[in-house]
Amino acid sequence: MISGGIPIGRYFGIQVKLHWSWFIIFVVITWALAAIYFPTVYPDWAVGGHVLVGVATSLLFFLSVLAHELAHSVVAKRNNIPIDAITLFLFGGVSQMTSEPKRPEIELRMSIAGPLTSLILGLGFLVIWYVTVYVVDIEPVAALAFWLGWINVILAGFNLIPGFPLDGGRVLRSLLWWRSRDLRKSTRIASAIGRGIGFAFIFGGVFLIFGGFWFQGLWIAFIGWFLENAASASYRQLALRETLQGHSADEIMTKECLAISPRLTVSQVVEDFILRTGRRCFPVVDDSRVLGLVTMHNVKEVPRDEWPNRTARDAMTPLDQLRSVKPSEDLSNVMDVMTSEDINQLPVVDKGEIIGMVSRDNLLSFINTRKELEK
Ligand SMILES: [Zn+2]
Repeated sequence: MISGGIPIGRYFGIQVKLHWSWFIIFVVITWALAAIYFPTVYPDWAVGGHVLVGVATSLLFFLSVLAHELAHSVVAKRNNIPIDAITLFLFGGVSQMTSEPKRPEIELRMSIAGPLTSLILGLGFLVIWYVTVYVVDIEPVAALAFWLGWINVILAGFNLIPGFPLDGGRVLRSLLWWRSRDLRKSTRIASAIGRGIGFAFIFGGVFLIFGGFWFQGLWIAFIGWFLENAASASYRQLALRETLQGHSADEIMTKECLAISPRLTVSQVVEDFILRTGRRCFPVVDDSRVLGLVTMHNVKEVPRDEWPNRTARDAMTPLDQLRSVKPSEDLSNVMDVMTSEDINQLPVVDKGEIIGMVSRDNLLSFINTRKELEK
């Protein structure tokens, strides 16, 4: 759901990105602070003051969210779990992990680090608020610190709700996992609670809408819908991963790769190979040497009127630019590579030779067969 985003730098060795939805929420929060909250609480400030403190508060709020997310990621990295990037979006931040924690103790430390950071930040801002009210009187700083103090405490509290995939749900899962040593069962329980909490939010939101608080109600119902979705998606993903784990690429790959000559034209490739065989990709081989791979995607890149003039060599992805996997590669990694690079098929390469192809279709039929046998 969260892919893409504008990179804004690396912190602690982790790439940080802004998703487009972040800009919406930044504008909404800045506007709510500068035009509604601060003018209501401090009516005697100048308009410029409200805007200035509003923008500063909003920026510090997003830095707080980033600190929360960085805390998760830094603990993860320290436990050898690679983090691709952190993306800030509508509901806060997500850390893109390429693998899941292997032990419950690591998951517990990782998931508690975020809310703990928010709590410490919250208390820190409340101390600043106290000092700037009762020791030295600096009203704009006090105003900013008061709001940031509470919002960080609320953030810590909200994230500790024990429904997967919220931090609290991960804490709960790690404790269940630690006791039962059964990751799948623990995830099932934690996601069921997560879905329950999602539904509770939706009903609460609908209740508020009928009570006349339509804006708050809509917002809460929307968060509930998001939680419910995330909880069921993360369980499905784990189940999928468990089905694939322990199986390797050579079990499901298509072995009969139809090799084509680099001198064929794109028209010939389409007519004689793609349409005739229904296959979607072909290794380009010259003198039993693999030069590259032609896929449907490559063909579509060539304008149709150029098909008779261009050759397979022009259209192919050369071998050195090709993402490939080893025959022994675990299928859960194969799925990760396909998803993260958004490709439909991967050549299986052994000692510099393409010995087969794995496609999304291969993965799907593997999963479907297992699913039917489970019933
Ligand atoms: Zn968190």
